[in-house]
Amino acid sequence: MERRIKDQLGDIEIAMTKFETGKYGLCETCGKPIESARLELLPAARQCMNCKALQAKNAKKQVNPNLQT
Ligand SMILES: [Zn+2]
Repeated sequence: MERRIKDQLGDIEIAMTKFETGKYGLCETCGKPIESARLELLPAARQCMNCKALQAKNAKKQVNPNLQT
């Protein structure tokens, strides 16, 4: 549980760094802009919905679908 919180804080720190470097809002996987509605819901999002969905599909056995970020 504690580790999970730290992971989330790490995501926010990465988002802040990206914001400073002008890369905020770009998908880490395909490099395209992440949907603004998605960023509003999840400011620390690192992937667009498309890539996230693909990743979730691949990781379905390990990740609880209800806890997707
Ligand atoms: Zn993407």
